[in-house]
This record gives sequence, structure tokens and C-alpha cells, in this order.
Amino acid sequence: MATSEEEKPKLKPTKIFKCKNPECKAWVRDEFAATEQACPICKGPMSRSMRHLPAVQNKPKPQPRKPKSDF
Ligand SMILES: [Zn+2]
Repeated sequence: MATSEEEKPKLKPTKIFKCKNPECKAWVRDEFAATEQACPICKGPMSRSMRHLPAVQNKPKPQPRKPKSDF
């Protein structure tokens, strides 16, 4: 029988913001961070960093087009 390979997510270096508090392990992806990102847990300042994360599958979402007219 063929061994089925588990799909391992490829890790790629991703920009993140991490909390400056060494006791706080909060971090957020850069793409989800606000411009002035504060720590969601301790509300402290965050600093830019890099982290190897599984690549996000960017599936093109079918954007529902709003009809310009109500017809
Ligand atoms: Zn924090």
C-alpha cells in the first residue's frame, strides 16, 4: 500500500509583531496587525520580528458583487 504523506505546511519567514514584555508571549501576524499594534493581552508595546510560520493559504475569495441597482 502506498504510504500517504501527511501534508506538512511549509514554513516561511513571516513578519510578525511580538510583545516586548518577555513574560508575555503574545504576537500577531504583520498582515493582521494594526499600524500602531498594541499587545492584545497586556496592551504593551510590540516590536517587529520574524517568525517561521506555515504559509497562509491565500485563496481568492469570490467577492460578492453588490448590484448597483436593486433590479
Ligand atoms: Zn503582551
